[in-house]
Amino acid sequence: MKSIQLKNIVKRYGNNTVVSQLNLDFEAGKRTILLGPSGCGKSTILRMIAGLEDISEGDLLMGGERMNDVVPGDRDVAMVFQNYALFPHMTVEENIGYALKIHKVNEKERQDRVSSAIKMLELEGYEKRTPRELSGGQRQRVALARAVVKQSHYFLLDEPLSNLDAQLRVHARKELLNLHETYKQTFIYVTHDQIEAMTLGHNIALLYNGDLQMYGTPVDFYNKPANVFTATFIGSPSANISHVTFRNGRVFIGNQNLVLPEVWQAHLTATGMEEMFIGIHPETVWISDTPTENSLSGLVTTVENYGGRWGIHIDIDNENWIVVMKEDVPVKGSTVYLAPDFKKMHFFHPETELNLGSPFH
Ligand code: ADP
Repeated sequence: MKSIQLKNIVKRYGNNTVVSQLNLDFEAGKRTILLGPSGCGKSTILRMIAGLEDISEGDLLMGGERMNDVVPGDRDVAMVFQNYALFPHMTVEENIGYALKIHKVNEKERQDRVSSAIKMLELEGYEKRTPRELSGGQRQRVALARAVVKQSHYFLLDEPLSNLDAQLRVHARKELLNLHETYKQTFIYVTHDQIEAMTLGHNIALLYNGDLQMYGTPVDFYNKPANVFTATFIGSPSANISHVTFRNGRVFIGNQNLVLPEVWQAHLTATGMEEMFIGIHPETVWISDTPTENSLSGLVTTVENYGGRWGIHIDIDNENWIVVMKEDVPVKGSTVYLAPDFKKMHFFHPETELNLGSPFH
């Protein structure tokens, strides 16, 4: 399998720069997720790799070769679109085999590849149907099968699951993983859904306004978010962020404070800063209904049922945090005492919003 590299890639539409100086490596045979909110440039990047959009500046290397000016048909990519883009008048097997026919693959080989894709994606019995006669999940599988038969080195997927309902998505995610385990293409997957990114990616590239915010493994995204934006994009619910002051070994939040462990005190003292942001994951706080040592008090404003877990919204001197609990859930209107897990907390620079690092990892 071959890697893809973006070197100082810029994309402009007129005067509007939608991707700026992007450097990214998509590792050979690995699943890399392009993640970010709508409009951040994910599809544009994918389409530049596929050759469906021109590149304004920079180099696109595929398998080490510069491909900026190579026509899409010669880039060895298979692409799956959000709307599937199936031909409505063709049957399932005609749709799946179409690209092979265009590329003049001989009939025997074509039939072999189409029937193995049909088997792989559990479409047996549906070969003669047209897309109109299929469910959303089946259409999505036809779109995947159509990409699979090309046996391309590069597999580019643009929000392929976003038209499926929640249950089907979970099933389809498993199918995608199986597919990749079987063919091991270099896989680039666009989504705005952090759960999809965390479950499917070997690596994630998080974008905002055409700028790379963080590149890393799903575990790193949770444990070491590069900046405030990353911490607020990952996790469900995402991390609580508050402005705090660090002084005399304590962090002050509103009118309250916590004494930090010595390793944190040394770490933050070395930064020379007093003002900063704190980041706390909702599932890393212990809550008690009686005062506990070194805790913050807050008022429960809302309790949300997530099914087996509860989201407790708490007002701590006008900072609104969410804490996730499984049992002993406090009631709305009660006062609670919060003790965050110091090993799991993050601090960020007040202006650049970059992570100030942690003495624990
Ligand atoms: P995403 O996939 O992350 O939702 P896109 O890559 O589709 O984002 O779009 C990135 C930005 O580029 C958006 O601001 C969008 O409006 C703009 N854009 C996309 N395609 C075009 C186009 N053909 N002409 C002008 N602007 C475009």
